[in-house]
Amino acid sequence: MDPKPPAAPTESSAQHVASHYNSRPELGLEKRRESKIIRLRKFNNWVKATLIQRFCRRGFRVLDIGCGKGGDLGKWGMARIGYYVGIDIAAVSIEQAQARYNENRRNKFSAEFHALDCYRNSLQSILPRDFVADIVSMQFCMHYAFATEQTARQMLQNVAQNLRPDGIFIGTTPDANWLVFGNAIYQVEFENKTDFSLFGHRYRFTLEDAVDDCPEYLVHFPTFERMAAEYGLQLIFQKPFHEYYQSLLGNQDAVNTLYSMGVVTDDGATMSRDEWEAAGLYLAFAFRKIQR
Ligand code: SAM
Repeated sequence: MDPKPPAAPTESSAQHVASHYNSRPELGLEKRRESKIIRLRKFNNWVKATLIQRFCRRGFRVLDIGCGKGGDLGKWGMARIGYYVGIDIAAVSIEQAQARYNENRRNKFSAEFHALDCYRNSLQSILPRDFVADIVSMQFCMHYAFATEQTARQMLQNVAQNLRPDGIFIGTTPDANWLVFGNAIYQVEFENKTDFSLFGHRYRFTLEDAVDDCPEYLVHFPTFERMAAEYGLQLIFQKPFHEYYQSLLGNQDAVNTLYSMGVVTDDGATMSRDEWEAAGLYLAFAFRKIQR
């Protein structure tokens, strides 16, 4: 019998992802306010802000892999970081991130931006020679690395190699356990509904005003956790967004941030049922690099 064919050609799907994000216009504040998923965006931002608040300290050196258009720069600024490196496969997004950084004169931290496929290349060629991150962040982007075991390993190698011992790796990613039926604002279409392989299990994802029918890959979290341990990364926690939200309701700072970031308004307006359901697609996680 012929051996199993090799995994799908991932280079071209990476290009597909890059051109998808490159062609998404920068919406601007006005358009973002009109979006159907405005509160979901705010909620996602709240999750990222609370992760940063919990794990980031003043003066930290940050490595933001898959940084996109630099949507988290303000959050890092609030955490008073010392240095920021943002990298993304989408060159247009990187230009927009750099422009966003340049426009904000209140930034107290230095920053640099690079366009690179971080799942098929080592970061050594682009990072400053002595750069070591105190915290690595991968927000809503790690699942693209699960196209093959090789790309997932390159991603983990890039995280672990550039993080100091005891440093923190935080992120958010779709939760493979969530039953995905879709609703008025998101749709998920699996290409293969029977064979759930650990890598390369592709689905197409659409989220109103954010992602248009983009190929993504399931992250099997136990596999991710086991592989991360091989790179010296030890899980601190992982929680689906709904549970993560519940867990922070006793934390006054996090609750105040729900209001200050506009997830909930003073008159009680918040996410629609569809938005809340879509938020449940994701999970948040944190790892610590252990001393060896
Ligand atoms: N982290 C940003 C945020 O939270 O706003 C952007 C998230 S966006 C949903 C996913 C990002 O992952 C896109 O900017 C995309 O270009 C980036 N990405 C996907 N594959 C990548 C790769 N191989 N290397 C680097 N970035 C990648």
